[in-house]
Parts: sequence; structure tokens; C-alpha cells
Amino acid sequence: MTLARSVLTCLRPAPLAWAAGLLLTAAAPPARGPQRVPERVVVLTFDDAVLSHATYVAPLLRKYGFGATFFVCEFREPPFADKTKYMSWAQIRELDRQGFEIGSHTLTHRHVNKMTAAELGAELDSIEGRCRRYGIRRPTSFAYPGYDTHPTALAVLQARGYSLARAGGAKQGRVRAYDPVTDDRRLIPSFSTSGDNQPQVLAALAQAQGGRIVVLTLHGVPDTAHDWVSTPPALFEEYLRYFKAHRYRVLALRDVARYLPPEPTEAPAATN
Ligand SMILES: [Zn+2]
Repeated sequence: MTLARSVLTCLRPAPLAWAAGLLLTAAAPPARGPQRVPERVVVLTFDDAVLSHATYVAPLLRKYGFGATFFVCEFREPPFADKTKYMSWAQIRELDRQGFEIGSHTLTHRHVNKMTAAELGAELDSIEGRCRRYGIRRPTSFAYPGYDTHPTALAVLQARGYSLARAGGAKQGRVRAYDPVTDDRRLIPSFSTSGDNQPQVLAALAQAQGGRIVVLTLHGVPDTAHDWVSTPPALFEEYLRYFKAHRYRVLALRDVARYLPPEPTEAPAATN
């Protein structure tokens, strides 16, 4: 067989194989892609590294088999050094080892709209450095202190690999469930819970349907550092029983990635 003929022999079936491949591609579901959001998905997030996260919340979540994200920072007032109020980094490491997500809440709880890009970068560096030192997985989720957001912060978070960021609700005028199709993945709205808004929380949970996910923000259970955001332990366990009784999937924020398409790699156009 001449070289030309052997090349032809090799090439001839190729268009057919190529066409068959196309057909197969068209018929088969995509190998990777966002999953459909099931009904009753709730994401639990806990802010500020409060001591009760390690001593009460995590053990109870494990009993129920629920996931959660703990957004940690080192508060200045009352000071993080007060271990009657806040977790130690060893306790934060233990949460990571137990399978919970550790997210960044800045180092000093500064609001992102009060910082330059470099200042926010330094705050993120500090939390990432502590995670490295303690062998904690590098955070890829972020929560905005005080729920304040800013376009510069969104760009910094994206550039540094923070693929999801949780905001509040009221400050963005969006007290509602998160819609992975239409909401920016770094402006995820959440419902705040405390000791006296049980009717609103239950109403919020009813929104976990039709492709939407309910994200709850909690602080300490209880919170002795900032008592105005405290959730009573008995009420918290009532919520967990409710999730179980109504068959909610209770996830960490990072688990939401499975419902999102891959993020385009190109840098977003500057907006300001
Ligand atoms: Zn906070």
C-alpha cells in the first residue's frame, strides 16, 4: 500500500466516525454541567467565629447529618482573644476536619465598601494564611461583613478564586431566596435569623422551590459577643427538626456550585 493510499484509507472513514460522534454528543447528556436545583434546598451559614459554633452548633448539625458554612473573622470588639466568646483556630480547624466549610469573613470584620482593593486583599491574605498554618482548606466562599457590598470587592473576590459570596438581603433590597440562574454568584441574598423572627424564617423556607435556594445567616447559638443577633439554642434545634421533618437538603454554601454553570474564565469588563 502506498503512503497516499494508506492515508486515504485512514481518512475515508473519518467523516462517518465524526458524524457518529456528533450524533452521540447530541444524544448523550453533557458530561459536566449544572445540576437541577431540587425542591427544599437550604444553605446554613454562621458568621463571626462565635464559640457556640464549635460547642453547640456543629455537634447538633452532625447529629442531623446537615452541612453548613462557618464564616470566620477575628473581631476587634469584643476581642477575638476572648475565648469565652469566640472559637480558637484549633476549634475552627476541627470544624474543617468534620467536613464543614470554612469561609472568609475578612480578618477584622471591616465592611468591603470602606476598603480599597489592596486593603481587602490584605484581609483575605490574613485569613488564608491562618488557614494554611492550621491545615484548613483554603476558603473559596466569602460573606460580606455588615452585608455591605461593592463592585470593587466583587472583582477582587473573583480574581482571588472566591467563587461564591453571601450578602444579606435588606441592604440589597432583595429579601428573598437565591436564584442561581439570575443572581450574581457573589451577591447571594440571605435571610438573617435571630431569636424573634421565627415567622419570617418559616415563610422564607417556603421559598425553597422552583429552582430557588434559601440561604440562612445565623450568628451565635447563643451569641454572647453580640447578643442582638443571638439565636436561642432551643429555637435552633426546632429549625433543624423542621428541616428533617420536611425533608430539606441542608448544605454548605460551597455545595451550591453543583447548581451553577462553570464560570467564564475571561475577566469581567470594568464597571467603574
Ligand atoms: Zn459578621
